[in-house]
Amino acid sequence: MFSEEKKQIIKYGILLDKYELVSLTCGNLAIRMPTGEILVTPSGIAYDEMEEDDIIVCDIDGNNIEGDKKPSSDTPAILYIFKHRPDINGVIHTHQPYATAISLIPGMTEFRVCYTGMANACAGNVPIAPPSPAGSVEMGIDVVNYAGNSRAVILGNHGVMTIGSTLKEALYAAVYLEETAKGYLAARACCPDGKINEMSDEYIQQMVDVFKYYGQGTPTIPTDLVKKVK
Ligand SMILES: [Zn+2]
Repeated sequence: MFSEEKKQIIKYGILLDKYELVSLTCGNLAIRMPTGEILVTPSGIAYDEMEEDDIIVCDIDGNNIEGDKKPSSDTPAILYIFKHRPDINGVIHTHQPYATAISLIPGMTEFRVCYTGMANACAGNVPIAPPSPAGSVEMGIDVVNYAGNSRAVILGNHGVMTIGSTLKEALYAAVYLEETAKGYLAARACCPDGKINEMSDEYIQQMVDVFKYYGQGTPTIPTDLVKKVK
């Protein structure tokens, strides 16, 4: 059942490892099928050792449909997100070190976009939620409460959850959030007062809008959308 989607989950799990967003068996990925079933990665199995049959298929309440492995310990949080965000069909949880490190900076409640790629992939600034226990439904509640229009939420002292209308959107949000976090922390370390060159709200919004025209199968970017802003 759902062989293609299971293959995609494993492929993307290996990509999370490649981009250094997870170590060993941490993190998880989940897809909601158009027919409502949820596919979720198993607990404690490394992505490069994962097989199609290891992916669990369950319903929105977590009742097993297919698979004999124990699902990710974060499944209650994942199901909470799917239940409360009908527009979301892909969820990824990582322990990506740079984005997570931003939650350690006192007073930070939001990671403001400072690279265009982050605006594109995360659809705007990324909120930072207070710490919640790993494996708790609170992680999912925080994502729903804090995300707004963002495709990512940084979970304080823990990791990141990214969400998308597809799993691919969630993957892009995780990768470009981490790339931006690396640059941000490097720049902050070079600025004695911790202040960096920021992007204006207008510029951020322009980059969010531009991404709607990115890739194959979308129209060319309207020229008036990419005029220079401050
Ligand atoms: Zn975690």
